[in-house]
Amino acid sequence: MKVFEEKKVNIFKILSEAISEGIVIVNEKQEIVTSNDAADKMFGYETHELLGEKLDILIPKEYHRSHPKQVGEFLKKSDSRQMGHGRDLYGKRKDGSTFPVEAGLNPFEINGSKYVMALVTDISVRKNQELEIIEFNLSLEQKIEERTKELKKTIKELKEEVSKRKEAEHKIKESLRKERELNELKTKFLSLVSHEFKTPLSGILTSATLAGKYTETAQQYKREKHLKTIQSKVKYLNNILNDFLSIERLESGKTNYKFDTVALSKVVNEVIYNSNMLLKDGQKINYPRNIDNITINFDEKILELSLTNLINNAIKYSSESTIIDVVVTPKVDAVEIEIIDQGMGIPQQEQKFIFNRYFRAENALLDQGTGIGLNIVKSHLENLGGTITFESEEGKGSTFTISFPTKINID
Ligand code: ADP
Repeated sequence: MKVFEEKKVNIFKILSEAISEGIVIVNEKQEIVTSNDAADKMFGYETHELLGEKLDILIPKEYHRSHPKQVGEFLKKSDSRQMGHGRDLYGKRKDGSTFPVEAGLNPFEINGSKYVMALVTDISVRKNQELEIIEFNLSLEQKIEERTKELKKTIKELKEEVSKRKEAEHKIKESLRKERELNELKTKFLSLVSHEFKTPLSGILTSATLAGKYTETAQQYKREKHLKTIQSKVKYLNNILNDFLSIERLESGKTNYKFDTVALSKVVNEVIYNSNMLLKDGQKINYPRNIDNITINFDEKILELSLTNLINNAIKYSSESTIIDVVVTPKVDAVEIEIIDQGMGIPQQEQKFIFNRYFRAENALLDQGTGIGLNIVKSHLENLGGTITFESEEGKGSTFTISFPTKINID
């Protein structure tokens, strides 16, 4: 029996020395009673050097406080278990250095005394490998992040490039469109000159020829009549030319607006005075009476062009012996001017096209015209923050209303 016991001890010794894990056995007082070669080497001790030492000697200081309590509780429960669940465990070598371990605790009893056998594995290599993997993953993630950033940057640059190109394309298309419109304008102008200028020019020629024939002093009034005709037809042609120049400037973006402080009556009177030459027999323009003391700050040329177009239209599209009212209403920081005629009016179904360039209503085709006046008035006024609207009934008359922003001074 003793032989067998001794053999058992020897077998245990051989086994414990043969395995690579460290074996440390402690008693209830947590004193080391046995350690195998692997454990001694792992912790840096000579053979038997650990015997009688407190278990604490193998545990880093920071774990001392919690450890005895854990081992005590463990001895009470007496079941085997793996230590360090969910947190890293460390062992302490003789030289004070620490290293990561994994420990399994196995309680047992001999002759009524309780012991715990700790199976300790040095997991430095595995930990290092884990660390390397973590670091490798981290650097991989970093690289991916950098690449993603670079990619995003490239995509952003590409998008910018695309939008720049689109913008350039848009500009080219826009300038092509303008060029096409200007060409169209020139073509229109040429055909207009050949048609629209013919009648007034031959009228001018006739009047000039006739005026030359009246040589007697008594025939002065006849001469004056013809000279007036010449003046009015020249004015008419001049207005058409001005309208065309205006479109050309609007289209090529060369319009320069110039704001001046002007007496409103000066502009209105000048326009009406010039339009008087175009009046048909019995036609009359009613001046606004309330404008003598009003000064405005606006582009004089644009106001003149707008009023000229509207008043000339009122004359042109109304018959003899009709009245044209010019009504001025000063508002807060704006002026509103209405041109009211008793003319042919604009057919309801054509009213929506009236501001389109070159558009002329069916009922106006017998009168001379180009269809550009209202279009440029609208463009200019809108460029300057103003508006133009109208109300019209066929056979009854039309009211065109312009409104533009301006500081008003009333003396
Ligand atoms: P134009 O008078 O040279 O034809 P406008 O642009 O000034 O060109 O006017 C466009 C069209 O609007 C005219 O052809 C005409 O049909 C209509 N129109 C403008 N003013 C009046 C008005 N006071 N009464 C009737 N029709 C008008």
